[in-house]
Amino acid sequence: MTHKIETLALHAGFRSDDRTNAVAVPIYQTTSYEFNSTKHAENLFQLSELGNIYTRIMNPTNDILEKRVAAIDNGIAALAVASGQAASLYSIQNICVAGDNFVCSKHLYGGTWNLFKNTLKDMGIEARFVNPSDPNNFREATDEKTRAYYAETLPNPSFEVFPIGEVAEIGRELGIPLIVDNTAAPILCRPFEHGAAITIYSATKFIGGHGTTIGGLLVDGGNFDWESHSDRFPKLNKPDPNYHGVVWTEAAKPLGPIAYLLKARVTLLRDSGAAMSPFNAFQFIQGLETLPLRMERHCQNAMAAANFLSKHPKVSRVIHPSVQRGKAKTNADKYLRNGYGSLMGIEIEGGKKSGHRFIDSLKLFYHVANIGDARSLAIHPATTTHSQLDEHELMAAGVTPGYVRLSIGIENIDDIISDLEQALAKV
Ligand code: PLP
Repeated sequence: MTHKIETLALHAGFRSDDRTNAVAVPIYQTTSYEFNSTKHAENLFQLSELGNIYTRIMNPTNDILEKRVAAIDNGIAALAVASGQAASLYSIQNICVAGDNFVCSKHLYGGTWNLFKNTLKDMGIEARFVNPSDPNNFREATDEKTRAYYAETLPNPSFEVFPIGEVAEIGRELGIPLIVDNTAAPILCRPFEHGAAITIYSATKFIGGHGTTIGGLLVDGGNFDWESHSDRFPKLNKPDPNYHGVVWTEAAKPLGPIAYLLKARVTLLRDSGAAMSPFNAFQFIQGLETLPLRMERHCQNAMAAANFLSKHPKVSRVIHPSVQRGKAKTNADKYLRNGYGSLMGIEIEGGKKSGHRFIDSLKLFYHVANIGDARSLAIHPATTTHSQLDEHELMAAGVTPGYVRLSIGIENIDDIISDLEQALAKV
């Protein structure tokens, strides 16, 4: 029986513990697993049999989280890692080596921007930033060394939903997988249904939902034919010296179309070690259970807040899909379901000084560098999250001096609005 997303969030991947009948997923706080025999150990290392070897690369608690997230996204497998940053890094490193490039939307989280523009550049991997408002920009930036397309579903500060289907289609034609960072829109968007090949998450945000835990996830849609594009993906189609000559597309065959994810787990995660702790996986499982319900309330509250702020004389602009027009709105309606997300930007009259005064006057909202908490949050991006960008880059990204980012929580909407109102009165 195929369950709906709300049911999957509670049930996918686990019924009860085989040994104790415990209903909650146990925290397997162990580093290692006893092999049944030398033959068993050999089989596991040869990948001829799947099983637990060492918690840096797999763990039974993490496994349930991975299964549940894969089910929610309608993917086939997932990999839990230590942070969203590790997830975005691995998503690229898994198919790009020095000399390769990938094309990405220029609307990215500041940390991803730094990772792509500087750290990956130092590793010899080129990120080609393009404007996503014309999907054809992806095609134009593509050459024979292009290994992936990368974008965020609902990027801040623009909050213009990425044209997932259009870019995925170009990618399918040219043999390039689309990787989508769906951090801001879990449940609301299922990128695989629109042709994306891989999703990644900062689980730190909505999935955890309570501001307690850092973590990341990669999900494999199992829908990209790596074998048909063997020249573009030698890492997946040629013997890999990093795992005694395994060809990943071959090795994955008995397990399903999980070549990409299998390689990420047993080479990248094994070698660079950004593993998620089982305790953190447990926290994310708890978060997932109520995620659909929270997203619903987040979206309802954000709509009401956007509506209030749009009419406020001290707010010159509200940036939220619910108030967008034209192509941006069409994409929001096409790719999001049951709401437009809880993140928004507002531009306050009076620039940086007013933006700072507004944030310093908030009482209910927390002033933090996070999004997707059950609590309402606010930050001034130009002087914090985006402060590594120069003036030109800030303007290009849409981060004006008076721009404030809000992450609307699940408190009572009357309290949210009255806090916004009293803080705006002080500007
Ligand atoms: N992707 C997006 C869209 C984010 O907002 C963030 C963090 O803010 C990340 C990735 C990185 O996630 P983490 O902080 O878990 O490393």
